[in-house]
Amino acid sequence: MAQSIMFTVDLEEWFTDGREIQMASWDNYESRVESTVYAILELLTKHNAKATFFVLGWIACKKPHLIQEIFAMGHEIASHGFAHELVYSLSKETFRNDIRKSKHSLEDIIGAEVIGYRAPCFSMTHWGLDILKEEGFVYDSSVVPGSFHDLYSKLYNKLEQPFFKVKEQFWELSLPALSIGNIQLPWGGGGFFRLYPYLLFQYGIQKWISEGNPYVFYIHPYDLDPNQPRQANFSLLNKIRRYYGLQSSRHKLEQLVSQFQCKSIAEYYPFLHQIENKNWGT
Ligand SMILES: [Zn+2]
Repeated sequence: MAQSIMFTVDLEEWFTDGREIQMASWDNYESRVESTVYAILELLTKHNAKATFFVLGWIACKKPHLIQEIFAMGHEIASHGFAHELVYSLSKETFRNDIRKSKHSLEDIIGAEVIGYRAPCFSMTHWGLDILKEEGFVYDSSVVPGSFHDLYSKLYNKLEQPFFKVKEQFWELSLPALSIGNIQLPWGGGGFFRLYPYLLFQYGIQKWISEGNPYVFYIHPYDLDPNQPRQANFSLLNKIRRYYGLQSSRHKLEQLVSQFQCKSIAEYYPFLHQIENKNWGT
């Protein structure tokens, strides 16, 4: 029987990561997210798989029909914040407003509760976790152990458990990172999925699972879009991060989804959606 993994999508546009193009001008850029999301949905349906979509609130407000369709197909809708700003760069009040706005927008669109959150660029903080719980979230999936990326948070350098209770009724599901010598190499997806050859990536997933860990995969629509406009002002490093391996990533994703039984986080951990005393609608 195929091994189970969690499949997650950070649903955002090619221009919404905030590095080069500011939110005030997002409306001026070509939206490309829809056709890629439909391709992902088709692939998941073909393999009887489910996913969690961490949706950027700005996109949900522009394309509510898309979010409703994803939800109607049985996938989980979770939050990727509203404006894609790095959590550690925000005041507590701004962060609270951002996640509240994103949660309420998504809940209005799908008519159901949203309990999961992933921080833009995994930029979570300890105080951010407190505020998530206060705002009615039940889990966060924003930690990449180690310090491998200049934007990633340094919240936890090493975790004993990839899935753990942070506090009463609040859980963290971290992204996988393989220990090789003294370094921890991120192994969750995104640019790393495009970078590593598929067989190596698959080997890493199996190693992670064989050590008793839950595996979480993530991908962005732009990781699967070879024709996206190139951002000229990107540094060389950012160009490699964003554009390497775009030609083969769809084929690799097909291999992954055919090989592993992909589930949403809600399906993998159903108890998370059964927690009571949440603040929906308040
Ligand atoms: Zn993002």
